[in-house]
Amino acid sequence: MIFAKSALKGLLNLFLQSHCPLCQRSTSRELCEYCERQLQKCHLQDPNILWKEPLPVFSWGVYGGSLKRAIAALKYENQPQIARPLGEWIGEAWLLNSPKRNQNLIVVPIPLHASKQKQRGYNQAALLARSFCQTTGLKFKLNGLERVRETKPQFGLSVSEREKNLDTAFVVGSEFRDRHPEFPVLLVDDIYTTGATAVSAVKTLNNRGIAVSGLVALATTVKN
Ligand SMILES: [Zn+2]
Repeated sequence: MIFAKSALKGLLNLFLQSHCPLCQRSTSRELCEYCERQLQKCHLQDPNILWKEPLPVFSWGVYGGSLKRAIAALKYENQPQIARPLGEWIGEAWLLNSPKRNQNLIVVPIPLHASKQKQRGYNQAALLARSFCQTTGLKFKLNGLERVRETKPQFGLSVSEREKNLDTAFVVGSEFRDRHPEFPVLLVDDIYTTGATAVSAVKTLNNRGIAVSGLVALATTVKN
């Protein structure tokens, strides 16, 4: 009996204990404590440094180091579960620092093209947005936007080529087709780079008379 109990316990531990996807240390959480500390070093002291017109951006962190590693795991190594703590941290930072923290907003993730989402199995921006909403209490709308065109990788393209590349990338999604959101939209993406993707998404919504308050990103490559 005792043996059976300990065997069962061992078996349970085997199921409950998993490995941190970033460093392989064993942990019962999505990320181990060590990696959480490393990631916190990427957290921007002022996530509002890019919060200015024409496109206000709130970024939790700077793209690089552990955060770059975590985003790669989230996007390319089938580790969707790490979006939960990351989205929670963005939400906590929003509640502490955002000038819009007391405003009602409708949260819409930047969508992937259907074929890419099928290939990946999930949209990392949507997972971050969902977790962000669980922390902030803001309303989450998965299908506010739809990506209608597969864009070429932005890497290596000039600014004007990038803009052209994203010109007609989005349409208003099923959620807003017949009825406008009651509050301005807050977009969510994993990385903010040149802003071409975000600007294209904003244009699509604005053209339909839908106001966009800004964009929330996990990381930015832009420093000021
Ligand atoms: Zn780790």
